[in-house]
Amino acid sequence: MVRSRPLKVALLGCGVVGSQVARLMTTHADDLAARIGAPVELAGVAVRRPAKVRGDLPPGLVTTDAAGLVGRGDIDVVVELIGGIEPARSLITAAFENGAGVVTANKALLAQDGPTLHAAAAAHGADLYFEASVAGAIPLLRPLRESLAGDTVNRVLGIVNGTTNFILDRMDSTGASYGDALEEATALGYAEADPTADVEGFDAAAKAAILSGIAFHSRVALDDVHREGITEVTAADIASARRMGCTVKLLAICERAQDGRSVTARVHPAMIPLTHPLASVREAYNAVFVEAEAAGQLMFYGPGAGGVPTASAVLGDLVAACRNKIGGGRGPGESAYAALPVGPMGEVVTRYHISLDVSDKPGVLAQVATVFAGQGVSIDTVRQTGKDGEAQLVVVTHRAPDAALVATVEALRRLDSVHGVASIMRVEGE
Ligand code: NAP
Repeated sequence: MVRSRPLKVALLGCGVVGSQVARLMTTHADDLAARIGAPVELAGVAVRRPAKVRGDLPPGLVTTDAAGLVGRGDIDVVVELIGGIEPARSLITAAFENGAGVVTANKALLAQDGPTLHAAAAAHGADLYFEASVAGAIPLLRPLRESLAGDTVNRVLGIVNGTTNFILDRMDSTGASYGDALEEATALGYAEADPTADVEGFDAAAKAAILSGIAFHSRVALDDVHREGITEVTAADIASARRMGCTVKLLAICERAQDGRSVTARVHPAMIPLTHPLASVREAYNAVFVEAEAAGQLMFYGPGAGGVPTASAVLGDLVAACRNKIGGGRGPGESAYAALPVGPMGEVVTRYHISLDVSDKPGVLAQVATVFAGQGVSIDTVRQTGKDGEAQLVVVTHRAPDAALVATVEALRRLDSVHGVASIMRVEGE
């Protein structure tokens, strides 16, 4: 039965995602009411530029006074789609103080201030839902928080940034340089005018912090996430990956240590075998591979961004928050009881693909091998090509701690016979 008093929703932000949330709330109003058990009414929409034409949105709903809208006293759920830290943080906090549930897609804020927001929500018995903050439309956080709540997650390996996946996919499929692929991504609207947050890995690092906190029932701060972007990836790296039967992806990798006593979180480009399910994730799609003790390997795949797909995840959260308002319950809060420490990047066990420019002379290979052995790093394969006294050595190592691999590269740079380290990339997913 649908009750007659509507639930009132304050929408903060009406941009790429917010405009689609407003549209779907209107066009799907009857279905939403039936699924929730009460009609849902858009009580107001806060924006920065009130004069902007916004489709079918009734002009009377639009306001620049977001704080006033949140503080009205009759708002049941606040949907925050402004993004960034302030004023989003103050508005969400005010929403909790006024007893409203909150739905947000704000990964930057959650990665930076998640624990404070969760504590404020709990203190006021309010909901905090944020499915859209990681991997857009893909149902991922709810499966991790709820469906896998009885399992032990050991690893989360994902492509969580569509812009960088588009760029790397273009480099792989067309042989384009990083610059040309970025230009194409910008022209097609996949990359923003300032692509720094995407290409330098900041966006993926925020998602890795959120994912690892949920997966391991611990707190992982943004600063705990090791971050490297894709700006240094060259067409030669991609070609080298191809020769190894691999492709290059920007991965977010959250892992529980083998002894289970710590976790690590990192974002960096890596070669993965073409046979790995993540290798087939093309264009701007996202995919996340979860390894759990009992469930085994799970993969979540779909559109990681875009107004309409992201609005789907926001609306799913809105339905949950509205149902709780009617039923009197509360969605799952923060689960950080395990309090596992976050280990440094040096402790991560990985493999390196190293490309060296060396003198094409007898004994050079032996010198290089001695450097690897000196750091306790064992070599898997070596490939040498060369002419006219110059050669290129491509070395792929076995698994070793990242610190030993970094030390190996430093020692190689000091060898007279090594003229340069052309590229270094980790190899994952085997
Ligand atoms: P957007 O297009 O830039 O929209 C932001 C909206 O917030 C605009 O409507 C803007 O008003 C409004 N706004 C900005 N400052 C404000 C203020 N001080 N007071 C009131 N309103 C203000 O952003 P978006 O792409 O929709 O992203 C929204 C959130 O979703 C972000 O947290 C983002 O990380 C997340 N997200 C986005 C995507 C995606 O594909 N875009 C995917 C997943 C998650 P005006 O319209 O007047 O400028």
